[in-house]
Amino acid sequence: MLQQTKVFKFGGASLRDASAIRNVGNILQKFSSEKLVIIVSAMGKTTNALEEVANSYWQGNPAAAKEKLTAIHASVTEIIQELFAEVPESLTASLNDLFVSVEWALDEAPNEEYDFDYDQIVSLGELVSSHIVATYLDRIGLSTNWVDARDIIQTDNTYREGWVKWPETVTRAQSQLPPLLEQKNFILTQGFIGNTSENYTTTLGREGSDYSAAIFSYCLDAESMSIWKDVPGVLTADPRLFEHVTKIDRLSYKEAIEMTYYGAKVIHPKTIKPLQNKSIPLYVRSFIEPDAPGTLVTDDAGDAYPPMVAVEKDQALINISTRDFSFVAEHHIKELFGHITTTRLQVNMMQNTAISFNVVVNDIDDRVERFCALVNEHFKTTVDRDLELITVRHYTSEVVESLRRGKVNMLEGRLPLTLQMVVKDVPVMRRKKLE
Ligand code: ASP
Ligand code: MG
Repeated sequence: MLQQTKVFKFGGASLRDASAIRNVGNILQKFSSEKLVIIVSAMGKTTNALEEVANSYWQGNPAAAKEKLTAIHASVTEIIQELFAEVPESLTASLNDLFVSVEWALDEAPNEEYDFDYDQIVSLGELVSSHIVATYLDRIGLSTNWVDARDIIQTDNTYREGWVKWPETVTRAQSQLPPLLEQKNFILTQGFIGNTSENYTTTLGREGSDYSAAIFSYCLDAESMSIWKDVPGVLTADPRLFEHVTKIDRLSYKEAIEMTYYGAKVIHPKTIKPLQNKSIPLYVRSFIEPDAPGTLVTDDAGDAYPPMVAVEKDQALINISTRDFSFVAEHHIKELFGHITTTRLQVNMMQNTAISFNVVVNDIDDRVERFCALVNEHFKTTVDRDLELITVRHYTSEVVESLRRGKVNMLEGRLPLTLQMVVKDVPVMRRKKLE
């Protein structure tokens, strides 16, 4: 039987520049005798830069789009020149092909659907990084097969948020990957991207590479999955937003799902479920301190947790009432949810009163406007924007009080283990200095 496979995921921060890629190489040297499937994101902030290319193109400015694309190609070239004493010609050629294919696409008129064009352009980031890292690993003596994730991960055609077709994906992974792992110890592939039945590229949603790694782990019944991050593990809150955060050593799948769903950015929310279904342990580890234990997410992690805080920004609170001031009844809610589904609003919280229905959603693109326009005939809507959703698991009154300071509470919900509040900043009044 094939030795058990481990799945590793390296995100953009761990591949930011030549020295970061070397560090990834050093980590992988320690696992040279193991069977690894390695998933990489785009390098550094490449995905953001590619989003700008897509936006310029879509706004009818292909020249600006090309200029931005050329700048990305130049910075990639700089990185590989620093990474390799002599850049392998095959790598330069594959990268040129990838960039040229997008450049040509920019000469065509935009498609009818922005999301489609977005995926065809933005997927370039992962294709580029995976070619670079695979070539580098080969150079340092780690024999690696490069795999196109689109040959494995099959999705529907919901561009920018492809839904995985599990049976097709499992079949492809199980038939194609084990023979490659027999041949060479490492497989290197892309996170974030998939393929439709018409052979078009999809993406799985921003930060979706963690999810890709979980898909590979599930398909291969992996022994474990590891996400290598720039933090020591899962923390009680985002250290960029809070002081005195501590690392959690062990976390249950359930806790991890709750926290990531409500905005704990450390793991993509879709990652946990496939792992939980097959009881595959997840390690969240530091690529800066690769020998430290990190956090283990698993089945049996006890239930004594400190308060944990997740903050989701860019929230909109939509207050909906009937135009005739009748009660908001079940058939209204059914109609509203129909429109919520078609405009792809993601609902984080909801609450109803006799004459109004309140939903808190992620304020993405123009989805809120489109929703309000659709319900306008029967409902009156008012929208509050720029809100934050704060979720506290295992809350204590002390933590909740400190989170409330300086904020106006717009909506609150409590369950025995979870408190959620939607807040906005109070403008701070200061006394003026008298001249
Ligand atoms: N590169 C993609 C992004 O930045 C996917 C990922 O990093 O997980 O969203
Ligand atoms: Mg990333």
